[in-house]
Amino acid sequence: MKQTISKKPITTHQEKMIHQNVKKPVRTISGVTPIAVVLKPKKCDHGTCIYCPGGDFVPQSYTDKSPAIMRALALKFDPYEQVMNRLGVLERMGHPTDKIELIIIGGTFLQYDIKYQYNYVKRCYDALNGKKAKDLEQAKKWNETSKHRCVAMCIENRPDNCSPEEINRMLDFGTTRVEIGVQMPDDEIYKKVNRGHTVKDVVEATERLKNAGFKLGYHIMPGLPYSNPKKDIQMFKKIFSDEKFRPDQLKIYPCQIIENSPLALIHKQIGYEAYTEQQTKKILIEMMKLIPEYCRVMRIMREIPKEKLVQGIEKLDLRKDIEAEFRKSNIKIKEIRMREIGFNQDEEHKNLKLKIIEYPASNGTEFFLEFIDENDILFGLLRLRIYDNKKKAMVREIHVYGQALELGKQEKDNAASTQHIGLGKIMLNKAEEIALQHKISKISVISGIGVREYYKNLGYYLEGFYMVKDLK
Ligand code: SF4
Repeated sequence: MKQTISKKPITTHQEKMIHQNVKKPVRTISGVTPIAVVLKPKKCDHGTCIYCPGGDFVPQSYTDKSPAIMRALALKFDPYEQVMNRLGVLERMGHPTDKIELIIIGGTFLQYDIKYQYNYVKRCYDALNGKKAKDLEQAKKWNETSKHRCVAMCIENRPDNCSPEEINRMLDFGTTRVEIGVQMPDDEIYKKVNRGHTVKDVVEATERLKNAGFKLGYHIMPGLPYSNPKKDIQMFKKIFSDEKFRPDQLKIYPCQIIENSPLALIHKQIGYEAYTEQQTKKILIEMMKLIPEYCRVMRIMREIPKEKLVQGIEKLDLRKDIEAEFRKSNIKIKEIRMREIGFNQDEEHKNLKLKIIEYPASNGTEFFLEFIDENDILFGLLRLRIYDNKKKAMVREIHVYGQALELGKQEKDNAASTQHIGLGKIMLNKAEEIALQHKISKISVISGIGVREYYKNLGYYLEGFYMVKDLK
């Protein structure tokens, strides 16, 4: 991996603003307010992975005791009602609701009837727009300037549902992030746990999704039947050492035996035991140490209520203990979330600089730009991908950390934000410069529907599903 550090990436004024701003605590740390919408129950086409609870009345990978599922059940899984309900609750709690990330959870969305998929997404936008559009196109157009803008959309998916046609459909919906279930990349294990796909599917999906500009998350599952701690660590290492994988994000869900899952029926027969809390903690600590700068762990542990567990760890906030241990023993972890300014408010922040990490991934080159201080605390990041034989440049993510600001408000109205002091723009300029150095004359950005206006103001225009800029 190559690393470079820009000498003078920001102005003194901007640096001063950052120093003032970060003294105040932030409320919505990641800067965007998430709303999860749950799909109606549907069985996966390949059958059931043996650890999946696979309910008939709730989406396949959830139980009827998860809070998001209980809310969705009460609203008959209607997407419009779910979004309206969440907006109301968030507003009453005083959270900003002008920048929303829609997260579609519950099953394998791309396997539902196509009409259902389009109608589902349209109705989410209708709720954000506060009016009913005639079709998805109109709903998206309205959302570009709506009060509640969809600035990001995430779909949970399977690696074998990422064909070019399915990727186009996700782009058409306005998706910016895709999470795929990888668990552990091993064909033998996949077969035995009835995953219904292969490692080849994971590799191909990874490349296609990155080339389409999506931010890519892997769901990882240590402790599967037919694995062991040593094997888990070996496979986890491979996810980052082998350039065919290298995801941007992870959710780490240690395997548990959940009521009604096939595993609950056969675990004694196959001599399977879920990892203990101690074993899990140990393995998670090892994994965290292996994660490179460009990857963020979004979540550790699934929200499975204890009454639904046949065997497995009950402690949902294991992550807190692990992070506390790292901080106490002063172990520096490179993973993104641990370095984010929102989680490091007490420190002093000096000498902000722009660092660029270059690494090969999935037949392309990734440039990971990050604004960090002298203690490696992170203020913002950008992912640029050069691919297709160095002919194309795609910005897959720009993220500036700080409280979610209401659109149009300036930083003087909100001293806790670093979002509107130009870090995003500086990183984007740098990305354009890198593209030009590679003799690429056009750069594309995957943009949530509600962020298109921002790019228009920076000289970008809409072409197909992307905001693009001619560089010559
Ligand atoms: S793909 Fe996900 S939802 Fe489908 S059976 Fe497997 S774990 Fe359950």
